This record gives sequence, C-alpha cells and structure tokens, in this order.
Amino acid sequence: MSFFERMWPIRKKLWWCPTCNVPLVKTRCNRCNTEGISLKLTAPGDARPGLERDEKALLEAYVNEFGTKSGFTDFRGSSILLLNKVPYIDEMREVVSDGIVICRIYFDPYIRKWRLRLSKPGVLRILNRGIVNTFEVESQKFLRRLFRIKTSRVFRKYEQIVLTHKGEPVGIGYYENGYIKVHSIYPRTVADRISRTNSSINDIIRANENSMREFISKALAFIDVTLEKTAIKPIVSFSGGKDSLVVLHLVLQLGIEPTLLFNNTGIELPETIESVHRTARKYGLNLVVADAGNAFWNSVEFFGPPGRDYRWCCKILKLAPLSRTIKSTWNDDILNIVGQRAFESLDRARRPRIWRSQWVPRVLCTAPIHTWSQLEVWIYIFMNKLTPNPLYEMGYERIGCFMCPASTLAELELVKNTHPHLWGNWTKILNKWSEKLGVNKEVWIEYGLWRWLAPARHKQVISRKLGSPEITNEWRSTYELWIENIIDHIDSREEYIHVTFKNEIPHNAVEAQLPILGIKEVKRNSKGVLSIKLDHNAEAEIRGKDLILMFKTESDFENCMDLLKLLIRWIACQQCKNCELSCLVGAISVKNKPVVNSSNCIHCRLCLRVCPVAEVYVEHLVIPLIINTPLAWRRPCREGFEEVLSKITTLLSISKKVEERTAEMFRNRLRKVEDNFAAFFSLMNK
Ligand code: SF4
Ligand code: SF4
Ligand SMILES: [Zn+2]
Repeated sequence: MSFFERMWPIRKKLWWCPTCNVPLVKTRCNRCNTEGISLKLTAPGDARPGLERDEKALLEAYVNEFGTKSGFTDFRGSSILLLNKVPYIDEMREVVSDGIVICRIYFDPYIRKWRLRLSKPGVLRILNRGIVNTFEVESQKFLRRLFRIKTSRVFRKYEQIVLTHKGEPVGIGYYENGYIKVHSIYPRTVADRISRTNSSINDIIRANENSMREFISKALAFIDVTLEKTAIKPIVSFSGGKDSLVVLHLVLQLGIEPTLLFNNTGIELPETIESVHRTARKYGLNLVVADAGNAFWNSVEFFGPPGRDYRWCCKILKLAPLSRTIKSTWNDDILNIVGQRAFESLDRARRPRIWRSQWVPRVLCTAPIHTWSQLEVWIYIFMNKLTPNPLYEMGYERIGCFMCPASTLAELELVKNTHPHLWGNWTKILNKWSEKLGVNKEVWIEYGLWRWLAPARHKQVISRKLGSPEITNEWRSTYELWIENIIDHIDSREEYIHVTFKNEIPHNAVEAQLPILGIKEVKRNSKGVLSIKLDHNAEAEIRGKDLILMFKTESDFENCMDLLKLLIRWIACQQCKNCELSCLVGAISVKNKPVVNSSNCIHCRLCLRVCPVAEVYVEHLVIPLIINTPLAWRRPCREGFEEVLSKITTLLSISKKVEERTAEMFRNRLRKVEDNFAAFFSLMNK
C-alpha cells in the first residue's frame, strides 16, 4: 500500500457480481444472490459509474494512445464502466470493466490530451492485435520500476511499450532517446475479465436495490435523530451538485420542506444556477441565495489570481455572503444539512458527521451521506429518477467556481471548450497579471501554473519540464511585483524590519484599529513620527512612508505582523465585512474602512483572522518576503483560528474570577460573547 493510500482514515469497499457483471455496494448481489468479488481499487476507492461522456473519453484516450479505434470494442468490454480517481499531477482515473481494472486514463499536462496506460488485463485484451508495440526482456528477475533499458529499436517519443518475457506481458515502459524507461511491473497471474455479460444502469440498480435501501434507511434515521437531538431549524445547503441533490431528496422523504441555501459565488457556471432554481421550483421550496455578486471580479484586481495556496476567494465569495445571509435570514441557530462525503478529500475524511461551522458558529452542520461513495450517490439518483446538473453529462466531475485553482488542467480545458466566453474573460485577467509579473505567459497561463502562488512541487515539476524553472526559482521577484502597488521595499533584519510603503502611511489606519492590539495610546513627536509600544519588547515607528518594527521574541514578532496586517488591510480593505460579521461583541464596523469601537473591543483579534487582506494577502505575499520563505504562513508561532477561539474562552473564565466590582464592567463587554458560546457548548454536549 502506498504512502498516499495509508493516509486515508476511511476507505470504500466495493464488489463485483460475476454473474450480472455489475458493481456491488455490498458483498452479495440482490438480483442473483451471488457472492461478489472484492474490487481492488486505489484508495479511497470512491468510484462512480461511467456516463455516456466517459465512453467518449475512453475512446478518445485509446485513439490518442494507439492511433486507431481497432480492437476498442473488445478492450472496452461488456459491462457498464466504473471510474476511480487516483493521485496524479493532473487527472487520472482507473477504468474498471467486466470486474477488472483494464487501464488508467489520464490527462497528460504536457501535451494537454487524454492518454491511456494499460494494465495487464487491458494488455491481454489487445496484445495479439498489433496495436501496441512490445519489447521482449531477457529476464524478468531484475526488472524494476524506473530502470532504463537500452534499445536500438526506434519508437515514438514517450510511446507506451508493453514489456514481455517469453511472450507474456510483464510490464509497461515508455520510450525516450534510445531507452525504454520501466514504468510499472505487472503481477504474474491475473485474468483479463471475470464476466462477459452485457450490463446496463438498470442491472446495477437491480443488483443493489436492497443494499441501497439499507444505506438509505441509515441516512434517514441519522437525519431524524440529529433533528430530534438538536431541535433546531433544518436547512439544506444546495450547491447544484449531485451530493446535495441526494441529501435534499432524503430530507424530503422525511416529510420536511427545508429552505435551500445556495452560495452563488458569482463565478458559477450558468447550468449550475439554472439547476438550483429548477430544483427549488420543482419541489416548491424556499430558496435563499447567499450572493457574492461581482465581488470576485472587483477583488481580483487587488489580489491577483487565486491559488491553491492563496485562497482569498473563499473568504470573499463564500464566508462573507454566507455569514451575511445567515445573519439576516435566521435569528436562531440552524442545522445545515450538507452533501459532504468523506471520500472527497482527506480533510473531509477526518471530519465528524456533525460539526460546528468554523466560520459561522451559529451553524451546526451535518453530513448524512458522509460514508457514501459516488457509486451509491449515482445509484440513488438513477433509482429515484432525479435530474442532476447537466454539467455531469458534459464531462464535469466537480460543480463549483468555473476557474477554481483546485481544478485540474483537464477540467480547465473542459471549461475552455464548453464556455469559451467565460474562459475568455478569465484569460484577460491572467494575461494582465502575467505581464505585471513578467512571467512566461504561455507556460504560466496555458499550463495552469497560475494555480499555485508558492513554488509548490507540481508547479516546480511542470515549469522545469517546460524549460521555465525561473517561474518557481525566482519567487521573490514575483512576489515583489505582485505587491508593488502597496509596498515599495522590505528590509528585514534579525531584530527589526523596515517596510517602505508606496504611499504615505495614513495615521488613522493605526488609530482606527488600535484597540484590536490592546493598545491605548500612541505617541506623536513634533516631526509627526508615530511611536507605538506593542509589548514589552516590541515597538513600531511610522514616519511618512516608512514603518519600522522592532522586536525580540517570536511573540513580539507576531505582534509586529499584526500591526502590519492592520495597516495593509486599512489601505486595501475590500469591504467584504467579514470582520464586522464575525466580531462577537459588535465592536468593529466597516464604512469604506474598518473602524473599531474601543469600549466594546476585547482584543481577541478574530476580526484579523477572518480578513482576506490580513490573512491571505499579507500572510502569503508580504510575510514570506520578510522571513524569506514562501511557506512563511506555516510558521508554528502564527496564531491560528483555534487559538483565537480558545483565547476568547479564557477571557470568559477570567471574567468569572476577577473581583465582583471590576468584573461587572468586564462582564458587560463579554455578555454577547457568552451568549454565543453558551449556545455552542450546549449543543456540543448534547
Ligand atoms: S473581533 Fe471584535 S472584539 Fe475581537 S479584536 Fe476585532 S473588533 Fe475587537
Ligand atoms: S478589513 Fe474587514 S471589510 Fe476590509 S477586507 Fe478585511 S475583513 Fe473585509
Ligand atoms: Zn448478480
């Protein structure tokens, strides 16, 4: 088992009925009562049935690989296909047909085409047709992955070669410059299929009908018990995707008519918006839209393209509109029933089935289909004749923002083909930023390197292979150009940091936000220099465009960084109001700029941790230049969201201990926080 596979705390087990030639979600076939054969899939094994477009994709990959359609029908086999995602630099799926993995199809990021890598059963299906070249190895004994075998035979560059020994396939290699590089070695004994029966979606439904009923009744019971225990108003988060569609249908089966909550990020594909409205109309449900409006296009000017490691967009397009909408629509706690599944990501796999929303504490979330695989979700959709988002049939596997940096190149290529106008708008932004940053336009845009800010491993591999290693090596100069509108120069020494801003630092940026740092006063000398004592060993001075930060310990350094964040967020505030919406005592308000009410503020700094300018822009672009590492945001001394919450809890307990007279004043300020937390803890202890 690979390292990646061992990381999954939960894996899905699936079986195959050799009689009906269909996948099973439980060991026994409900149609013929045959015991199923366990499927060997890469973890977490979240396989799904192939749709019509998957048939086309498999044929396309086959033709790209072998230059012919010949032999495809036998290769493809008789059953419905099953596809299972596997880790790869872009997108890769295992393809199961007739109960056996016949190949992996993958999107080659360098030629931007789908390719196909044969497994041994796949080879056995086409070996005698002369479609794929073979190379006879003298001995199987010393064959190892990544070995290079010298050959005088000439093949196409990167051509897939089947390695044989005494005519038997023993592995796969790829040809390059006179060598065949061994890619994989096959197991000795394996069949090419376990059945030849033709099968369809209806056969899958019949073979899994009773097993699915078990899954469904467990999910319904789970929703029922959660509703009873929490006794709070349920809503369904509806993204327009298949998982939330199933969850909604389950909730409706209980006779509940929930309100639907849809987060329109403003960069959804039109089919998704249409699908959400159609579903709400179909079931006659109230639809509440947390709308980010034009926020993405307004803020991308300042932030630049979002990255997998630079997700300013989530805070502006999701957190802000959701907090705002929830606050204005529901006065009390709500139970948010979501379609999240454990197999979607490691993060979700580690999450419990009920959790308190990290960002909007009034929301308790629950995932009734947490342990369902995609196969179960799709069988449910077929069984109940639900209408999923048409994007699935167009080839989309993930529903959400159309240019999400978490997308693979394969997904972006699909957007380019199906929604050229939207893609054109996005390309204009990328063009502008590639010019500003002076990066190789073709590599950065066409090969999707904009999807990472820091020199991440995949970014390094792709940029090196394409002959543009400077894109990752010269990260400092890229970051400097990225922030040049705000900061001119950074001089970072052991005990002080000198930051020169582009423009004069507005003194009211400090004064309006000082209570956040627990500072009561600043000194201003006759020359207009502002001196701020941040802590015993941390001080700051502001002179014109210059900010000088002096510190001794790590915590002093963090105090200095928080002051820097306050200044930059004041200058570049995006008016998302996350700070205002999350402050537990209502001490901060945003009217163009954030302004703090010093008599209410309890100095918890929660408003800083939710601010996209402070926590994303400054953390991911400015502080890396100060510490000289692009991964500065991972430093252990950085205060995280959890620490802020525990700080608030500590503040509450102190208030109970201090002397009665002084406590009264302190308690008044904390009363609102206590109210919010009391609700939180009582729910958690139920
Ligand atoms: S979240 Fe509110 S109380 Fe906490 S530091 Fe910010 S303004 Fe002050
Ligand atoms: S200061 Fe407040 S309103 Fe401005 S960007 Fe930060 S969180 Fe948003
Ligand atoms: Zn069967």
